Amino acid sequence: PAMAVALALGALFGVLLSRTRRMEGPVADLDRALARGEFKPYFQPIFDLHTGEIRGCEILARWLREDGTVVPPMNFIPLAESSGRIEAMTWQLLGRALADLQPHLKADKDFKLSFNVVPKHMLGAGFVETLRSTVAAARVSARQIVLEVTERDELDDLARAAAVVGELRDYGFRVAIDDVGVGHSGLSRLKGLGANTIKIDKFFVDTITVDASTTTIVEMLVALARDFHMTVVAEGVETEEQVRALISCGVEEGQGYLVAAPLPFAKFSELMVSRRAA
Ligand code: C2E
Ligand code: CA
Ligand code: CA
Ligand code: CA
Repeated sequence: PAMAVALALGALFGVLLSRTRRMEGPVADLDRALARGEFKPYFQPIFDLHTGEIRGCEILARWLREDGTVVPPMNFIPLAESSGRIEAMTWQLLGRALADLQPHLKADKDFKLSFNVVPKHMLGAGFVETLRSTVAAARVSARQIVLEVTERDELDDLARAAAVVGELRDYGFRVAIDDVGVGHSGLSRLKGLGANTIKIDKFFVDTITVDASTTTIVEMLVALARDFHMTVVAEGVETEEQVRALISCGVEEGQGYLVAAPLPFAKFSELMVSRRAA
């Protein structure tokens, strides 16, 4: 029995020791990955539902780990947010995406780059200034940049949120409200924020061809968007049938596997070139 206790204690100390040695912990992992530049932008086309023409793209984060695994954003964005790393991560992703896309943005002045920003970051001190200087340094026009912001508690101070959106729009940036229809988005707040675009969540696109009440909701969102001079983008479009249903509801733009999944830049670039040649 003494032997067993000694073994157990030894194992316990071994575990504790290796933990401290490797500076274990998911936040330390994030910091290391940030320092190594392991967070990469992937690019998903946003297209005209009528013509299929690519109008822009959304930047979606992927963590490319040393061992070759690709980690999806839901496995690291929440921790990045709660540990205060999301700001650094967002600037890193945007900087890289701007550098990658610069030729496309220059060649097509209507092409738009959308990126995701958490409300706390957007409403934080210095955000608008840093965004302006980052975009200016890349010699890209603010008109080609769309900020996608998900409605959450942080936007509760509607007056303050609307002021920041107003300031962004004064400089020419566009703002899209993400994940509309799920979560917190109240209809009055959709108006009060003063955004340019609403993005209809994949949930509605998934059910639009099977559920008449979804059609009603999407038609209502389109009518609302028109009244507020906003455009509508549907996300998660996978079939031609969904395209037809969305068009008949009045939705103009979409994004989804039907055209392409989020792609690393080289693949996205190939897609753009082959589209242009076609
Ligand atoms: P989101 O902003 O709503 O992005 C759309 C999600 O739907 C993406 O998931 C995209 O890959 C997925 N999607 C698009 N089309 C289709 C389709 O046809 N079928 C299916 N099954 N899925 C489709 P992803 O890339 O896993 O990102 C998940 C969420 O993580 C995003 O949702 C966004 O909220 C967050 N996220 C991603 N990148 C960033 C980032 O750089 N910053 C922040 N703050 N959040 C990010
Ligand atoms: Ca988004
Ligand atoms: Ca979305
Ligand atoms: Ca979504």
